[in-house]
Amino acid sequence: MKDQHFVVIGNGPAGNEAALTLREHAKDARVTLISRETGGCYRPHLLPRFISGKFAKEDLYVFSPSSYKELGIKFRSGQEVIGLNLKKQEIFLDHREIIKYDGLILALGGKPRIPEGLLVFSDLMLTLKTIDDAKIWSRELEKAESVLMIGGDLTSLSFTHQLIGMGKKVLFAINENSFWPMNFSKNLYNGVSERLVKRGVTVLDYSRIRSMSNLPEGGIEMRTGKETVSADIIGAFFGMVPDVGFLARSGLKLDRGILVDEYLNTGFKGVYATGDCAQVYHPEINDYWISIGHDNAVALGKTAALNLVGEKIKVEPERVFDVQGVRVNSSWWMEF
Ligand SMILES: Cc1cc2nc3c(=O)[nH]c(=O)nc-3n(C[C@H](O)[C@H](O)[C@H](O)COP(=O)(O)OP(=O)(O)OC[C@H]3O[C@@H](n4cnc5c(N)ncnc54)[C@H](O)[C@@H]3O)c2cc1C
Repeated sequence: MKDQHFVVIGNGPAGNEAALTLREHAKDARVTLISRETGGCYRPHLLPRFISGKFAKEDLYVFSPSSYKELGIKFRSGQEVIGLNLKKQEIFLDHREIIKYDGLILALGGKPRIPEGLLVFSDLMLTLKTIDDAKIWSRELEKAESVLMIGGDLTSLSFTHQLIGMGKKVLFAINENSFWPMNFSKNLYNGVSERLVKRGVTVLDYSRIRSMSNLPEGGIEMRTGKETVSADIIGAFFGMVPDVGFLARSGLKLDRGILVDEYLNTGFKGVYATGDCAQVYHPEINDYWISIGHDNAVALGKTAALNLVGEKIKVEPERVFDVQGVRVNSSWWMEF
């Protein structure tokens, strides 16, 4: 491993774990961790509680930039990877620097999914994925009395809980695309709406959003086929999609995420994908699955790193569900 350079792209739960594992198991190698976001590694699932004021920003972090330095991991914070040359083993950064690697782990995670029909309204809706998103929510909520949640993924349910605790009036628009990654069913719909209504949330049933516009007196108006509603903030919560657009010309096989075998290898020697951005082959079901959730990301990050340093560990999903044509492995929503 001497003089080898291992690079991890992405510093979410999967990338952080991969870098720490590489450091531990490849003591002589150089390890670099590249993160588009500034600051250390934080836990995205605590963002709703951070917004509600129950968590200080510092408490979100599990690893600070100085801790990486102490461990001998080169941490490149606030730097975005914009391309790869897998034949030359090169990584292109947005400020035009090129980094050479001997082994590479892609831990790119996901970004908020906005359904195609709603992209035109993107500027009018807030999403929640990063600390920066959370800061925008905090700022907007200071002057807001009401929030309209659309999409209904799992994040929205825990966030709604916090919003109610903050004394906000919450409206929740549900249709058959709601609750991703859970499969929509009438039972689930009834169960969730009943719980929301009990907590004082106004539940709106809609089939299509026809328009959204800023109101002159402030707030945003949304028209569905059935009704017109308005709120100070509209939040879009349609789940996450892997953030792999910049890899389109890299030669990696992409579908919903980066396709990898059961060892998380991409088909290129020494190149692995892990966490939420990986779409993992399963020989028994003869299909690919994606993983969602903090604990899965950490476990996959560790496995990718161990395989990069020479082990041969297969990843086994615990429970795979078919969600709108995508096979998903997560224990996350079982807790809801
Ligand atoms: C608000 C919220 C609530 C959640 N609640 C729960 C929960 O209750 N339970 C649970 O289990 N899970 C929850 N999750 C999901 C969980 O956080 C994710 O499954 C987990 O973070 C995935 O980890 P990851 O490392 O694969 O990806 P991510 O956490 O998405 O990290 C990927 C990192 O890669 C960086 N990156 C991407 N592209 C580039 C690039 N080109 N160059 C440089 N850096 C790049 C990103 O900036 C990001 O920091 C929640 C997520 C959110 C957002």
